This record gives sequence, C-alpha cells and structure tokens, in this order.
Amino acid sequence: MDFGLSDEERAIRDTARDFITREVMPLEQELLRRERAHQPGLERAELRELQLKARTFGFWGLATPQRYGGMELPAVVQSLIWTEIGRTFVPFRFGGEADNILFHATDEQQKEFLLPTIEGERLSCFAITEPGAGSDAANIRFRARRDGDDWILNGEKTFITGGNDADFAIVIAVTDPERGARNGGATAFLVDRAMGWRSEFIPTMGEGGPASLVFDDVRVPHRNILGEIGQGFALGMEWIGKGRYTIPSHAVGIAERALRMAIEHANTRETFGTKIGANQAIQWMIADSETELEAARWLILRAAWTVDAGLDPRHASSMAKLYGAGMVNRVVDRVLQIHGGMGYTRELPIERWYRQVRLYRIFEGTDEMQRLIIARDLLRGYTKIGGHLAG
Ligand SMILES: Cc1cc2nc3c(=O)[nH]c(=O)nc-3n(C[C@H](O)[C@H](O)[C@H](O)COP(=O)(O)OP(=O)(O)OC[C@H]3O[C@@H](n4cnc5c(N)ncnc54)[C@H](O)[C@@H]3O)c2cc1C
Repeated sequence: MDFGLSDEERAIRDTARDFITREVMPLEQELLRRERAHQPGLERAELRELQLKARTFGFWGLATPQRYGGMELPAVVQSLIWTEIGRTFVPFRFGGEADNILFHATDEQQKEFLLPTIEGERLSCFAITEPGAGSDAANIRFRARRDGDDWILNGEKTFITGGNDADFAIVIAVTDPERGARNGGATAFLVDRAMGWRSEFIPTMGEGGPASLVFDDVRVPHRNILGEIGQGFALGMEWIGKGRYTIPSHAVGIAERALRMAIEHANTRETFGTKIGANQAIQWMIADSETELEAARWLILRAAWTVDAGLDPRHASSMAKLYGAGMVNRVVDRVLQIHGGMGYTRELPIERWYRQVRLYRIFEGTDEMQRLIIARDLLRGYTKIGGHLAG
C-alpha cells in the first residue's frame, strides 16, 4: 500500500500551492476589510483577472477535457488542488470550468452555453431545489409543458448558487408528471435569463448568497433540452455527485489552515504565567482536530481514487462528504475556542469560516441524506463494509 503522491501529483499540487500563496493570499487582509465594511469579498472582474493569471501557469479547467483546452486532471489531483484552494479564505477558484453535465450538450448548445462558460464569458447556475423539494429532489413540481416546437416553463426554484448573477440556468423540470421525476418524468433545460426568468437574492449567514428563480410562462425552444427528454433527474444527480468529493476536499484545506493558526496561538498566548498550549484542555482540542483532519483526508482521497478507478464512487463519496463536512465544523469551532474573544471578531477569518462551513453540512446533500445513502447501500447489500478492500 502506498500513501504517497507521485512526482507528477506533487508537482501539480505544489504549483497550485505556490500560485495561491503568491497571488491569492495577499488579498486576504483586503477581503476582511471589505467584509467589515459590508462590501462584496471579491468582484467578478478581480476573480477573472486571477483566473487568467493562473491560466498562464497552466491552471485552466481542472476537470475540463483537454479537447476543450482543460487540464482533465484525475479526481485525486483535483481533490488535492481543492484542498490548496481551501487554505485561503479568498473565495477563489481556478477558471476554465463548466458544470459537469454541460458536457452532454449538443454541438450547437456547446457553442452557445458550454464554450462561453469555460471561457468565463457566461455564468451558469444549476437549479433542481424548489421550495417544496430539497432533500426529496424527486418530488419537484416545477413544470415544463410542450407547446409546438417550444416548452413553457412554470414554477419556482430556490437556494440556487449564483442564481442572481447567472446568464443562464440549467433547470430540472417535470415533463411527465405521471412517471415521476425519478422514472423518466423530468428533463433538463438550458434557459437564458433573456427568455424571461427572474431572480431574487436570498441573504444567508455566509458570503454572497443564493437566489430564488421564478419562471412565469417562460418559453424555451425544444433545442434547449440538455441531454434526452426524461434524463433530467439522472443529470441532476450527476451534477450533485461531483461536489461530494470536491466540497470536503476544500474543507480539508480550511481545517488545515485554521488548525495551524490554533497551534501558533496556543504556542504564543499566555495565561496564568504559561502558554495556553501547556494545558491539556487545549492539547486535546488540537489532537482531536488533527486526528479527524487526517481521517477526513484519507476518506476523501479514497473517494476520489474510486472515481479514477472507474468504480461506483457514490458510497465512498457520501462518507467523504458526511465526515469532511462534520470535521471542518468541529475543527473550526475548536480553533475559535482556542482563540478566545479574538476568534469571535472580524479581525481574523475564523468567525467567517464558522459561518461558511455550516453550509457544508447542508448543500449538495445534507448530513442526513449522506447517512441515508450509506446505510441504505449496506442494508440492501449494495456495498460491503470495507469497500474495495472487503474482498
Ligand atoms: C447556500 C445554499 C446554496 C445552494 N445551492 C444550490 C444550487 O446551486 N442548486 C440547487 O438546486 N440547490 C441548492 N441548494 C439547496 C440544497 O441542496 C438544499 O437546501 C438541501 O438539499 C436541503 O434541502 P432543504 O433545504 O429543502 O431541506 P429539507 O429537505 O426540507 O430538509 C430539512 C431537514 O430534514 C432532514 N431530512 C429530510 N428528509 C429526511 C429523511 N428522510 N431522514 C432524515 N432527515 C431528513 C434534512 O437532512 C434537513 O436536516 C443550496 C442551498 C443553500 C443553503
């Protein structure tokens, strides 16, 4: 068994680390200042400038196939890079990406939606959640009715990341209520904002915020169907599957950075004539955090490895998402505690992480949904305890 990285994996990881350290981290103090002034963290133009600079270092489209100009990296390497991104609290991500399911687009759709999204000229959002259907995504009611060569879309989507800025939405709609979404009754549509949907920003405890999207008789041409009629639910699940190892990979980077801050603070802050790190109470918080961080790291890398090995990654990814999301919440909470009152202020990024990572237990499948998947797989005998090592 080899827990090491290949020279190539290490080189890509280190180059990403270098870029983030040199080009992104210097913006951190300004970001905190803007937040204290209730201004947006990073403007779209600033993010784009950073992404174009990263492109000159070869970082463009981590997951994007090479024939579209991307790096087409294995999932393990993508995971390592998301961990590097997590080390900075600047909301940065490398450019050249598009929603994974946009690669199902026809040639015509690729020109109109996929290629401009990869180039960063157009912004997409993905919409399955509705006011009445979140975890129970198969219960969506958002309706698309055929009308000649068009479809008429009606309904509301909610909590849609980027929904207030997006130029177009990938919307999962019910096209055949008799069949139900899970059984071929839902279809994915590519819908330009110009076709008439409205969005409304939803303030949250985190940075930015999602939006609700309202469709009132929005007319969409038949050629804007993504994939096949009836394939919408499967595409929705494919979209969500990607985040199940990238989100916890990001969480590992956050936890590492936060824990390092806690160690430094424990080694310098003195109370009662001694460093706080001399107290077992503090040491145990550090020890538990490091142990959980390592456990999460290997669960996540195993999930990513499962993707690369061409195995069904669902079970491993659910464990990675469940444990990684919980881990980062526990670690950030302890790091805040170790910093005392300073941890609670907006001088440091800790309270910001505290608010941000709470989302990780909710979106792209709540903790409870991950548990449901893990337990159901075992109860039905679909997976064995021990995964690919079970024999
Ligand atoms: C900031 C943010 C961004 C988001 N971005 C997107 C996006 O881009 N696109 C998109 O489509 N959606 C997005 N979502 C929606 C997100 O995926 C849902 O909020 C999530 O799936 C939970 O659905 P819900 O909010 O309706 O909660 P509910 O499904 O109503 O669940 C409420 C609670 O009950 C629990 N629960 C539900 N059913 C069960 C059960 N059977 N057993 C045990 N517990 C259960 C849940 O785990 C949860 O704790 C986003 C949400 C947020 C907050």
